[in-house]
Amino acid sequence: MDSSEIILAIIVYFLFCNWIQIYYLAKNFLKPKPKVIPLLDDKLLTKYKSLTKLDLSINIIEENSLMVGFMLSSPPFKPIMVFSQKLFKNFTLKELDWVVLHEAGHYLMLHNWKLALSQFILLIIGLFIVESFRFQTLFSILVISLLLPLIYIQVAKIFEYQADNYAVKTMPDPRGMISGNTKMRKVNNWERKRPFIKKFLVIAVPFEERIKMAKREIASRKID
Ligand SMILES: [Zn+2]
Repeated sequence: MDSSEIILAIIVYFLFCNWIQIYYLAKNFLKPKPKVIPLLDDKLLTKYKSLTKLDLSINIIEENSLMVGFMLSSPPFKPIMVFSQKLFKNFTLKELDWVVLHEAGHYLMLHNWKLALSQFILLIIGLFIVESFRFQTLFSILVISLLLPLIYIQVAKIFEYQADNYAVKTMPDPRGMISGNTKMRKVNNWERKRPFIKKFLVIAVPFEERIKMAKREIASRKID
């Protein structure tokens, strides 16, 4: 097997594992760099510090078409999270609790490290399979480099469930998770008519599942 073919397969593998990030980067490549505004609301930051025991840095990015948020870092680095303006402006404080605690959950459970490690382990498994079964054609190697990311996406989904679970347990009022997801579903509706994409290619927990999680928590806390 040609080493250039292996390199091509590894590139395909990484592109597919990280397709959402690459898609957004490509989409915004030619646009001017959006402004990032740090949140300086002391009251809000103090509240999140008492809930998470973390000194969070919250940033708002000029993005007015999608409701998105993500955690940029993992320990030992400081927790830095980013939310789109669209989300930040339209969410109530209770709804904001859900997204901030979700991202804090990713940080506390070292998810960025675990994602990187999962990609690496699956890559090693892929190389091992190619080597031990002596796959000879570029086609068969490419098939493996397209199948392994599907496993990676399911692993990443487990981390998403863990973050949502942390958020719903830590939220003072889990009803914010229900209304927040209802709002988000209306705006980020591109995946709505595509159940296949939602199940196999998207890492996030489906809106309906999150609403169910919140309802279960509300029932267990006996909130009306
Ligand atoms: Zn997440």
